[in-house]
Amino acid sequence: MISGVSTRPRFIGSDVYRRSTYGERHPLSIPRVPLTIDLCRTLGWLHPGDYVECAPASVAELARFHDPDYIAVVQQGERTGQLDIEVMRRHNLGKLENPVHPTMFLRPATAVGATLRAVDLVAGGGTVYSPAGGTHHGQRDRAAGFCYFNDPVIGILDLLDRGIAPVAYVDLDLHHGDGVEAAFHGDPRVLCLSIHEAGRWPHTGQADDRAGGSARNFPVPPGMNDSEFDYLGEAAILPLLARLGPQAIFVQAGADALADDPMGGQQLSNLAYWRMIARLQDVSPRLIVAGGGGYNPWAVARCWAGIWAVLTDAVVPQRLPDAAEALLRQVTWNRSQGRNPPQHWFTTLADAPRPGPVREAVKHLADLALAP
Ligand SMILES: [Zn+2]
Repeated sequence: MISGVSTRPRFIGSDVYRRSTYGERHPLSIPRVPLTIDLCRTLGWLHPGDYVECAPASVAELARFHDPDYIAVVQQGERTGQLDIEVMRRHNLGKLENPVHPTMFLRPATAVGATLRAVDLVAGGGTVYSPAGGTHHGQRDRAAGFCYFNDPVIGILDLLDRGIAPVAYVDLDLHHGDGVEAAFHGDPRVLCLSIHEAGRWPHTGQADDRAGGSARNFPVPPGMNDSEFDYLGEAAILPLLARLGPQAIFVQAGADALADDPMGGQQLSNLAYWRMIARLQDVSPRLIVAGGGGYNPWAVARCWAGIWAVLTDAVVPQRLPDAAEALLRQVTWNRSQGRNPPQHWFTTLADAPRPGPVREAVKHLADLALAP
């Protein structure tokens, strides 16, 4: 931490995320950011001055990375509710993945605004948490994987513009952080580290893909347990960061590698995420932690509230107080897992640990990443 700078982390959010407009069938039509905020507030973890409500990024700010024509199309889709079929095809819009919807510009632009605010707040040193961020699949001129814009790319570009380098990007999401890796291909000022499930969409991020020296990838076979995630943290991520000496770290903490997530085949408890965040806390003078994927509302909110606890040294209670439990019991989720939710999704924040053997394939990934 840089001396003289307040050490209390900030939490960036927005009321924009309180209304869902993706449509009922979309995996993101669940409360995630608002539930995380409300859970932290109910637990007394948001002190006065901690919470920052953010504004959407401007078109000029988005154009630091995105194609102006594409930005205009996203705005037009939000305004009119419809787009020409050829235009939608060109920008990968209009299907269930990236639907045309009433806040298709406002929501992602606000996530970018939050990340730019985070960069501003950490410029002199410190930590910011922005669970709305982490839209790592967004491409320069097209949407991908529920991501219309790419806030990590724009945030890292802003850090670099301010002379803050090198920057480490650490992606914990179930899916490879392809959009971020592609944007910084061969850039010696950025190192993109991504732990993701092997054999899964977007099918990039193989172990030998180093993006011209600016990336290391950890495609872990399905079934990753807490011990394996810890192993990669200690045996690969920390040594790589020690070599780099980052002036800032941007973490994408997508919660879809949790065992309770419906999307993937990984088997992590939220304790493993919390330990990984703790590991990354004092490696660099500046830390931005964003969200990402995560499609079980209870699992996401419990995991992400716990990340804020790690960042602020708050103590996670064994059993949640009544008000927090009531908050979690109000949530509904239209999936089979949501119809008979286990009681501990309401009564605890921490999952039961999920340790296990560290498979040779996982050790091999660490060795490959450290090899010259
Ligand atoms: Zn994901």
